[in-house]
Amino acid sequence: MIPARGQRNLSGTAEIELALRKLNTLGSVLMIAAHPDDENTALLAYYARGRSMRTGYLSLTRGEGGQNLIGPEQGDLLGVIRTQELLAARRIDGAEQYFTRAIDFGYSKTPDETLGKWGREKVLSDIVWVIRKFRPDVVILRFSGTPRDGHGQHQASAILGKEAFLAAADKTRFPEQLRYVQPWQAKRVMWNVFSFTPEQEKEALAMPHRVELDTGEFNPILGKSYNEIAGISRSQHRSQGMGAPERRGPSKNFLATVAGIPADHDAFDGVDTTWARVPGGEAAGRILAEAERTFAPEQPEKTIPLLLKARPLVAAIDDPLARRKLEELDETLALCAGLWLDATADRYALVPGRPVELQLTALNRSHSPVGLLGYSVLTPEGVFRAGSNDAQHPLAYNQPVTGSLSWTAPADCPYSQPYWLRKPHSGDTYDIEDQQLIGLADTPPLLTAQFLLNFDGTSVAIKRPVQYRYVDPTEGEHTRAVVVVPAVAVNLPERVEFFPSETARKVEVLVKANGAQMKGDVHLELPPDWRGEPGAQPFQLPDGGGEQALAFSITPHDGAQAELHALAKVDGQVISTGMTVISYPHIPPQVLFPTAAVKLVRADVTLTAHRIGYVMGAGDQLPEALRQLGCEVTLLSDRDLAERDFSGFDAIVTGVRAYNVRADLRANQDRLLQYVRDGGTLIVQYNIAEGGAFGGRKTGELAHIGPYPLEIGRARVSVEEAPVKFLEPGHPVLATPNHISERDFEGWIQERGLYFASQWDSHYHALIETHDPGDKPQEGGMLAAHYGQGIYIFTAFSWFRELPAGVPGAYRIFANLLSARPVR
Ligand SMILES: [Zn+2]
Repeated sequence: MIPARGQRNLSGTAEIELALRKLNTLGSVLMIAAHPDDENTALLAYYARGRSMRTGYLSLTRGEGGQNLIGPEQGDLLGVIRTQELLAARRIDGAEQYFTRAIDFGYSKTPDETLGKWGREKVLSDIVWVIRKFRPDVVILRFSGTPRDGHGQHQASAILGKEAFLAAADKTRFPEQLRYVQPWQAKRVMWNVFSFTPEQEKEALAMPHRVELDTGEFNPILGKSYNEIAGISRSQHRSQGMGAPERRGPSKNFLATVAGIPADHDAFDGVDTTWARVPGGEAAGRILAEAERTFAPEQPEKTIPLLLKARPLVAAIDDPLARRKLEELDETLALCAGLWLDATADRYALVPGRPVELQLTALNRSHSPVGLLGYSVLTPEGVFRAGSNDAQHPLAYNQPVTGSLSWTAPADCPYSQPYWLRKPHSGDTYDIEDQQLIGLADTPPLLTAQFLLNFDGTSVAIKRPVQYRYVDPTEGEHTRAVVVVPAVAVNLPERVEFFPSETARKVEVLVKANGAQMKGDVHLELPPDWRGEPGAQPFQLPDGGGEQALAFSITPHDGAQAELHALAKVDGQVISTGMTVISYPHIPPQVLFPTAAVKLVRADVTLTAHRIGYVMGAGDQLPEALRQLGCEVTLLSDRDLAERDFSGFDAIVTGVRAYNVRADLRANQDRLLQYVRDGGTLIVQYNIAEGGAFGGRKTGELAHIGPYPLEIGRARVSVEEAPVKFLEPGHPVLATPNHISERDFEGWIQERGLYFASQWDSHYHALIETHDPGDKPQEGGMLAAHYGQGIYIFTAFSWFRELPAGVPGAYRIFANLLSARPVR
């Protein structure tokens, strides 16, 4: 297990004691829900840490469609962040993490819409696959599969979970999986009944075949209750603002059987969780029970002989569960011997064709007789044997034995893209070719070291990922994954380049070296009727990490969308891949390899505003989109808000959730309203209703968001094709300088908007109505009010998604907002 930045695993005798308990527990439980944060972390901690069960959480999606509270990443990138946040949470609560190929496409109101977008059979097959691989005794659903779950994806997770329980045991369902796995019959499916309110608890108590448990129980080995652990674990979901308290005291949980054999006392009723459940397991079980019973915390190495006595008995059992236990046993041996086995590379970014030095270290921090028989490294091409010899190196107390070797990634080695993003996805599921990768939380390590050890005559092989170890001067030691990268990364910083007129625009290509002495040239590929000048440009980067910006002038072709590709030629090799690094303190750095391409959009947009002040909120990419429209955008700092003269701005825009996250904005609201009174234009984008899903703040932070009373509700319009109705078609905001029509609402992505206003003063004019199918009309998405000499506009439409995606209509409407002037 690779510790995340700023985190460490449990260690010392607590870890060994828990490992010994787990060796003697042969039960397993798998929780299923839809998203990162749906999981009941306390229950996971209770089963993994308290009951020593193998515990897993299967989240159908990686949470791609949510809102990012810590930065600008959306979609695939947000899915990568949330994957790592879940892994960080699992390191704390002790459970394992799994996913299906399903993508969180945003809010949906019904399971039918969800299953239609995902493809029911595809996602069902993935749940069945994970069940057949994991082989849980008990499946726990977080949701009921009914409308009370809310989100259609929540409902779908329970509907499919129940179906998968039956299908996993049926050899006629998904028979193509049986090449790798056997059908699996779990004992039962249970619903973790909601008990957040006293009414829900009453309802839970009335359910038949119900099991009660207390996740508030204290675990003296850990020094914490499961709820306290859950608080730490849940707080890893930083991109969702899920900081949670470490609660103490009792906490009831209810599990009700919904399929399979009913349970009335414990979720594991009727499940043998002892060694007796595997053929010939009793003898091994007796020895391992003794190992647990006689464990002496001050001398963990004294347990080693018993583990070695049980090992051949476990190894002889032909059963997937026993094979898994054998791996656990070997890791417990290493723990008892205080073994430090480590494999590192001298850098994290490897360029194909250039050698990297690897160092392997074995250190015995006990007085038990352990020897190193040899080591090898598993590479993408196969096993790379090195340092192997027949002579044993005895590992003397606290004396490291190191070996080094050199490896060169082959010239055609693929870059280390997260496995689910290797192929482009067009719909709402990932396209993954290799069945064996499906379900895995993360990409397997590029290189794996294997240490062959001799424990008093018994050979034991233990694996470790090869990683890069480094020290951050302020944070201390970190590790990160080793990845294969292009010799030079060709980065096009924008997803979209927008051309509001026929005028040529500058587009920059950033070339970054991943090795020393990189030189070559970059040229662009464009459709025939677009023009790029110059045709090619040379670059020269002496240092690894050096970067050079090359500017090209692009002349658009009328009324068209196109794609621009940038290619670098280095040593006769053509590279058309960029590199994106995602770095946050709570997760290991993540590297992605986008194609060096950008979408070009040409559509007429007229704009009469030029100088824009922007108050960045939680993070969005609007300033760049506005620059592409021809605006000069100034990001307003806390000092600007307090002191700057705003009269030079044609309009001021507040970024998404700016009022939620910026106290300086709230403190200077009077100055902004004075700017409007003096003739300015203020555009306020969506903010989260108070006491909302993100932390339940109730500080009145939105009380004065507008010049007249205005209340923000929870309404959202999640169907991106939802029809729109113009309530005041002649209103200048809809008429000038661009005439807005239904066509401008075509081609939108993910949603129309969120957190619409629910009530407003009569000074506001509601301009547009839109709503999801079956919902009541929502008129609070765009409100305009004259105030003094100026105009105030509140807009909950999802500009932060539509503009960076290059939706022409969204640019035209937003240009009108910026250009809005009061009618005199
Ligand atoms: Zn959810």
